[in-house]
Amino acid sequence: MTDQTISRANLQAIDSAHHLHPFTDHKELRGAGARMIVRSEGPYIYDSEGAEILDGMAGLWCINVGYGREELARVAYDQMKELPFYNSFFRCTTPTPVLLAGKLAELAPDNVNQVFYGSSGSEANDTALKLVRHYWALEGKPSKRIVISRKTGYHGSSIAGASLSGMDGMHSQLYGAVPGIVHVMPPYSFELALPGESEHDFGLRAARAVEDAILEAGAENVAAFIGEPVLGAGGVKIPPASYWPEIQRICDKYDVLLMIDEVITGYGRTGEWFACKTFNIKPDTITTAKALTSGYQPLSALLVGDRIASTLIEKGGEFYHGYTYSGHPVACAVALKNLEIIEKEGLIERVREDTGPYLARALAERIGTHPIVGETRAIGLMAAIEIVRDKGDRSRFKGKHAGDKVRDLSIDNGFMVRAVGDTIIMSPPLIWTRENIDVACERLLKALDAAEIELRRL
Ligand code: PMP
Repeated sequence: MTDQTISRANLQAIDSAHHLHPFTDHKELRGAGARMIVRSEGPYIYDSEGAEILDGMAGLWCINVGYGREELARVAYDQMKELPFYNSFFRCTTPTPVLLAGKLAELAPDNVNQVFYGSSGSEANDTALKLVRHYWALEGKPSKRIVISRKTGYHGSSIAGASLSGMDGMHSQLYGAVPGIVHVMPPYSFELALPGESEHDFGLRAARAVEDAILEAGAENVAAFIGEPVLGAGGVKIPPASYWPEIQRICDKYDVLLMIDEVITGYGRTGEWFACKTFNIKPDTITTAKALTSGYQPLSALLVGDRIASTLIEKGGEFYHGYTYSGHPVACAVALKNLEIIEKEGLIERVREDTGPYLARALAERIGTHPIVGETRAIGLMAAIEIVRDKGDRSRFKGKHAGDKVRDLSIDNGFMVRAVGDTIIMSPPLIWTRENIDVACERLLKALDAAEIELRRL
């Protein structure tokens, strides 16, 4: 912002007067005023008060290549001058979505070779839901409509996205979800494992909740299972190693399609291009967005497996679906350059071999030993910290909003994290170094110390 006359106070006044923020209690925010982020560089964001904050959330799980990338700005500028927009309807196309589709087919698992574009993860999941149901209709099995999802899974906030999501609050405001979506338990051993139950056994039990749902509905009525490889917004819930192989077995057994939502995990977060590789999942669809452009442009890509694609192409006729900005040329140009940066700088290998394991160790050794931390868990560069009152029995600070307290203190200490209930989560840019991880741990420790004093006193 260059116009000095637009002061922070002015901006906050306009924000309070006119701006309805996402996932916000408006009355509360208008009382407090929003934090104004005004500038960024590399792994840092800066607020209007001049505070430098290490961004542990990569924006909103998306800025994988970090802030301030000249190359991305340049490629967007060049594309805007050349051809800012043309659509992909009516037998037209433009070069960058074509090149990007080719690139994505190369990066995706072997059985996944087709791309449908949108602008957001929610749009991509809307596409996926329509597509899997249409697939079964085309295959002469129109009764296969039910989609099984998980409680606390997140798949977007459009009507279909929120219906697929397993968030109670969101469902309470849908006033009629998309029918035929069933939610089962998530693989969250910290809260849901039985006393004495091993991680392995818990993983199998959580997966078999999907089988139970299939049997209850009748396999002839079940279209697909949808899941994030690691539940993200639900609290970075990392499934036990036994979970995904069992899900795969169950889906294969009952001929249920596997819809994998990699809006967060796609493009390097778990140390592979896709977490499908990390967990050895054979998907029928992969929903991607966010890090596809590292958040520099809104863009999503639903990657479609050969099984669905060949039916759609061979028998489908017209698929009545698409968005004005499906295959937006500027967004696709930025995505191509972003993927090139990720490759050229070896960011995924770095996460897999160096910073990912280093983060997991640092959290376990430096944060996990804190008296109000019940568990730390990490995979690649996504992690969670469970805040508890008592490490022994994992009981929580009831009614004290301990997660919000730790988050606020952490931000005050210059480290941006997010709270999901009493779980602190992070998902830093893939450019993070060991030094960034060390700084994050120091700032978080200070926040935990201060939070403990306040929480035990309250
Ligand atoms: N799926 C997952 C796994 C997500 O985390 C999100 C967003 N956080 C979405 C879908 C929805 O994406 P968008 O907000 O771009 O619609």
